Amino acid sequence: MIESLLPSYRLTQSSLDTLADAITKLSAFAPQVDADGFCRLQPLSARVLPGQALSSFVPLKKMFLPPREKLWSFQSGQFSELEQPEPFAVVGVPLCDLQALWYLDQVFAEDLPYQKRRARSLVVAMPCEPMPECSCDPELMPVAGDLFLEQQRAWALSPAGDALLRACGAGGAADKPLPWPTASPERRPLLTEEQFRNSADAAIWAEAAQGCLSCGACSVVCPTCYCFDLLDETATDGTVTRSRCWDNCFFAEHAKVAGGHDFRPGRANRLRFRLEHKFFGFGALHGQNACVGCGRCRKVCPVDIDLDQIAAKLGGEGLS
Ligand code: SF4
Ligand code: SF4
Repeated sequence: MIESLLPSYRLTQSSLDTLADAITKLSAFAPQVDADGFCRLQPLSARVLPGQALSSFVPLKKMFLPPREKLWSFQSGQFSELEQPEPFAVVGVPLCDLQALWYLDQVFAEDLPYQKRRARSLVVAMPCEPMPECSCDPELMPVAGDLFLEQQRAWALSPAGDALLRACGAGGAADKPLPWPTASPERRPLLTEEQFRNSADAAIWAEAAQGCLSCGACSVVCPTCYCFDLLDETATDGTVTRSRCWDNCFFAEHAKVAGGHDFRPGRANRLRFRLEHKFFGFGALHGQNACVGCGRCRKVCPVDIDLDQIAAKLGGEGLS
């Protein structure tokens, strides 16, 4: 892997306070654990930055691809402008979510609403404590975002992050650089694409999908799942509004097309499709591993379906 070095800065208490001020002047969010034990991205009220990253139940993607958003409306012969998003910051992002953000940045490279939100955001990553469900690559590097903060030190991940650190009076120091991977980040594949292609008739699909409730929770919490549907609604005054809403490959209607044909009529078909999408990507990202190993799907699935275990079995490593 080719590596280059990221600018690294020392943070005094004064520059850290200035940085916290600058970040919380924006509409700032951080993963916080609620009384019900769930971690959610919530507004940061105090001018104090979190000390470490946490894995929010619904991941960072919702800040850039909201569960439901208006794309345009049409009234009296005129299209409305897209809403201009307010600048915002997300602080305390784990590295696996940065990797997922890198993936979504490629998927939505030409998507105006997504790119507008990305351009007006500041994403601040921090080290995290792995959960029992995590299976991320221990060599993960920050491949997207603006800042990586660790105690009294900061790394600039983007020109905007670099400018912010300088404006906050952070002291330049190159004595603890982070290596920056210029190659695409990828988790170690658990099976080859050939093994996957040869598995169409394997019994494991029906066995694993037997208990699946088609609830779609695994896809909702996945930081790289991005399927959406488009809805056109007409109000009584004739205004037409187009919205984009999250869709889910586990839902029965997801692969139905005109004429009633369904490309994935059963849960086993849907489970196989999801594994294919996670480990081998689609479109321009074909072959790219979209599973960053965050473990959310394992944690949320009510019947303990685990894509890693299925992939490992198909890959010949056996179930753990
Ligand atoms: S498939 Fe599961 S472990 Fe992989 S990125 Fe999605 S939620 Fe995380
Ligand atoms: S969370 Fe589990 S039960 Fe629900 S759709 Fe996903 S695999 Fe099926």
